Amino acid sequence: MSRIVAKFGGTSVADLDRIRAVAARIKREHESGHQIAVVVSAMAGVTNDLVALTRAAHSMHDAREYDVVVSTGEQVTAGLLAICLQEQGIPARSWLGWQVPIRTSDAHARARIEDIEIAEMERRFEDGQVCVLAGFQGIGPDNRITTLGRGGSDTTAVALAAALRADRCDIYTDVDGVYTSDPRIVTRARKLDKITYEEMLEMASLGAKVLQTRSVELAMNHGVPVQVLSSFDEAIGSELPGTLVVDEENIVEHEIVSGVTYSRDEAKITLMRVADRPGVAAAIFGPLADASVNVDMIVQNVSEDGKNTDMTFTVTRGDLERAIKILTDRKEELGYTSLVSDANVVKVSVVGVGMRSHAGVAQRMFSALAERGINIQVISTSEIKISVLIAEEFTELALRALHTAYGLDAA
Ligand code: ASP
Ligand code: MG
Repeated sequence: MSRIVAKFGGTSVADLDRIRAVAARIKREHESGHQIAVVVSAMAGVTNDLVALTRAAHSMHDAREYDVVVSTGEQVTAGLLAICLQEQGIPARSWLGWQVPIRTSDAHARARIEDIEIAEMERRFEDGQVCVLAGFQGIGPDNRITTLGRGGSDTTAVALAAALRADRCDIYTDVDGVYTSDPRIVTRARKLDKITYEEMLEMASLGAKVLQTRSVELAMNHGVPVQVLSSFDEAIGSELPGTLVVDEENIVEHEIVSGVTYSRDEAKITLMRVADRPGVAAAIFGPLADASVNVDMIVQNVSEDGKNTDMTFTVTRGDLERAIKILTDRKEELGYTSLVSDANVVKVSVVGVGMRSHAGVAQRMFSALAERGINIQVISTSEIKISVLIAEEFTELALRALHTAYGLDAA
């Protein structure tokens, strides 16, 4: 007998037919004798609508009331799934975050899970009951409802799996696993059987939207085996058809590069001719950090005269206007001559733990892009990742070229 947490995303519970199909799948796992907790998202599109309603009500809404509103989508699907399970003869009940309770920090709209009380759920497992938990929500120290940030049901599922010491956390979604690249762009992308937590973490934060980044961090820290699989396939999680996210030692043979990802949510800012002296970077990036503007890639050019330099860096597109305002307000203090910005850029990255033990990985990327005449604007690297910023119009070309260059193309 295994203990399994299964999470179903918005498209998997998009309507009653889909919820009935989820119930049938759970029934089969249940009949194999497993203990099962199910975590559900809201129906596809519902959370977006709820967010829009809170914005329409007031642009500067109270984050605590935002959480009250946007957490309701999951309440609906949890209740409906419990009903559908009961209808199919499976003992089940729904749980809201506060009922468990799932205790979180007080950072409304982006709370972190701090503790999950599992005693009652475990008792009900003994009676064969399926627990259906509303994802994305918890209760804060102020006794008010919190939510975990968009895509947070993944994190609910992994945190519950860690607390329950589950054998597996199955994440059912509308894709059948993690791919070497976006299959809508790279038609020769392949599904990966296994990927390491570290690679998944890089891919999630670099734009592959399969799992919420926080959920991967949590899985890595607690060693929760996560499986990504499609709820549109017939197979159930116990038949292992998806992609397993696991520790490095569980993967025998590594590709040098496991995936090629991209993020369009990038914008570039260049400050021309800032003074090249100690304290300048702090003076530029300090005020941005204070305003919660996340700066990602940074390059500082050599200064020809030893006095001035150009500083180029990236922020998310949503932060661009705010960043420009902050820097323009400080133009005199920072002493640059002009500010140039460009939102038509994309960040393309290659990710793989195999990079640690191979030389020439970056060179292969640069040559592949050069051969297609694609100019690299900014480069950044980590131990298992190389990212380049390029003009957005080259996104597709770059992804396909790199996929081929690293030998990832399906036969
Ligand atoms: N329903 C929430 C969202 O759309 C949480 C989730 O689906 O994971 O962000
Ligand atoms: Mg999701």
